[in-house]
Order: sequence, then C-alpha cells, then structure tokens
Amino acid sequence: ICWSTRGGWHRPRVQPYGPISLDPAAAVLHYGQEIFEGIKAYRHADGSIHTFRPRANAERMQRSARRMALPELPTEYFLQSLRELIAVDGDWTPSGADQSLYLRPFMFAKEAFLGVRPAEKVAYYLIASPAGSYFKGGVQPVRIWLSETYARAGKGGTGAAKTGGNYASSLLPQAEAYENGCDQVVFLDPDGNVEELGGMNVVFVHRDGRIITPQSDSILEGITRDSLLQLAEDRGHTVERRPVSLQEWRDGVASGDIIEVFACGTAAVVTPIGALVTAAGEERQPTGDLALSLREELTDIQYGRATDKHGWMHQLD
Ligand code: PMP
Repeated sequence: ICWSTRGGWHRPRVQPYGPISLDPAAAVLHYGQEIFEGIKAYRHADGSIHTFRPRANAERMQRSARRMALPELPTEYFLQSLRELIAVDGDWTPSGADQSLYLRPFMFAKEAFLGVRPAEKVAYYLIASPAGSYFKGGVQPVRIWLSETYARAGKGGTGAAKTGGNYASSLLPQAEAYENGCDQVVFLDPDGNVEELGGMNVVFVHRDGRIITPQSDSILEGITRDSLLQLAEDRGHTVERRPVSLQEWRDGVASGDIIEVFACGTAAVVTPIGALVTAAGEERQPTGDLALSLREELTDIQYGRATDKHGWMHQLD
C-alpha cells in the first residue's frame, strides 16, 4: 500500500515476491525513516490459520509511526494485509509444534530528496517466511552479555519504537556478545536501569511470587511479555512494571530473592537466562519452572491446543 500527503493510503495490491526499486535519494536510505513489526501465524489442528493479537501489533506500529513521523496505518488495513497475504501464501504456514509463518509488516519513506524532513511519500509492505523451531533439542538457558560500553536507545530517543536504527545501534554490541561466548546482549538505560535484550524483554521472578519487569520510555513494549504477565496474573501472581536497576538484579540474585530470570519475544517466546557475563566474569542466574510453564501455556493457546480465554487469536483464513 502506498501513502502520500495528497492521496492518503492508496493502491493496495498483492504482487509476487521480488526486489523493490528505489530512487537512490529515497529518504529511508539516508535518514532511516522506517518501522516494522514481527508477528507469527499458526496452523491449528483443523487446518485453519490464526495470528496472535494482531491488533496489538497494529497499534504498536501506529505508535512507532508517530515517533518516526510516518503516517499511521489504520488497524483495518493492517489486518486486511495479513488476510490477503494468507489468502495467497497460506499454504506456506507449516503445521506442527513450534512451526509457524513469520509475518513482517514494514513501512518506509520512499520519497526522493536530500534534506532532513519527514517524507511525503511512504510505502507499506508485508512479507512472510516459514519459521521453524527456535531451539533445536529443547529450550536452553542462554548466556547474556552486559553491554557496558554501548546503549541501544537514549532518553527521548526512539527506543520504544520498532525502527531499524535501534537495531543498527545494537549490531556492534551483539557482535561483542558473540565474541564473549554469549547469545544475546542486555542493554541498560542512561540511568543504569535494565532495559531489554536486542530483541526480547526481560522478566524477573521474585521468591514471594511477584513478577517484576523493567519499564521506561526507551523499552519496546513486547506483546509476548504483556501476554505472559497476563497469564501470570491469572494464576495469582502480582506483576510490577517499574524501573529495575542492575544493582537490584545483582542483589536479588545474590540474596536468593530473585529465583528466575527470563527473556521473552515473538521469535523464541520464552528463554531462561542462565548467565550474565561481563568483562569481569560470569554471574550465574537462577532458573526455575515458571518461565517454562508460562511458555507452555502461551504456546498451547497460540497453537489452538488450549482455550483462548482472552480472545487473543484472530483467524485469518
Ligand atoms: N524488544 C525488542 C527490542 C524487540 O525487537 C522485540 C521483538 N519484537 C521485543 C522486545 C519483544 O516484543 P514482542 O514480544 O512483541 O515480539
């Protein structure tokens, strides 16, 4: 779908997958004016295809659009694009546990000009790719590198928007994480509070049953996290969304108050964090059953194996 200041949203169409032609002066290539989303479609036992909370993705994309001075794609257009893609490519949605079709909606500034201002011509696309199991051979705790040199986002910056620049700034720290034998990197905010991983949110489980997750205006509000915390509340857990300092994390693990640390996001759903690694050494993290039991409850809903008590699933075909 295209958008211009004069014509609004227009020309919705489905076209074969292939390269897009862009003017070399297209604003996105120079100023990074772009946003995206990530969402999965699941095939249920009766063959029908469903996505998980797509309205939440549509609304997050609208929030990202506002921050990036892009036009907001109406929720109905967003849902329509998912349905139309499934109508032509639904056969690519795998069946079976841990298999899904990953959907990637994205929007970028295609107007050609040099100069820093919001573009007046924009394009919205949706592409898809079958996604297999994230963990071969069961869910494994991951090792997390603490990025002490680099930040992913700053105060008043674009951290809460799903925009390429945030991911660009995490590439170098991510490479540093790999060099140090870690799978992922955890970022701190400018006040030294725990923010999130490169593509997942962080959650702490307290010995008294409380579940604590970092909140700030530079964290991407994960839909997986929101859903897991809802399921935890249904089970009677109290959920706290507030700033969490690195010191509180370390003290909590040392005293035994924190009994589990895990990360969550659309791609891997839930990943226990087994170690926090810094230049000074490795700090082992406690793992427990809650993360994996919430993971199972959520994936049972997503794959249609359990009652969708919150009305999260949205049938596409
Ligand atoms: N934080 C970042 C930076 C991410 O890229 C993602 C993945 N979209 C998440 C958190 C988790 O969000 P969600 O649960 O909606 O996938």
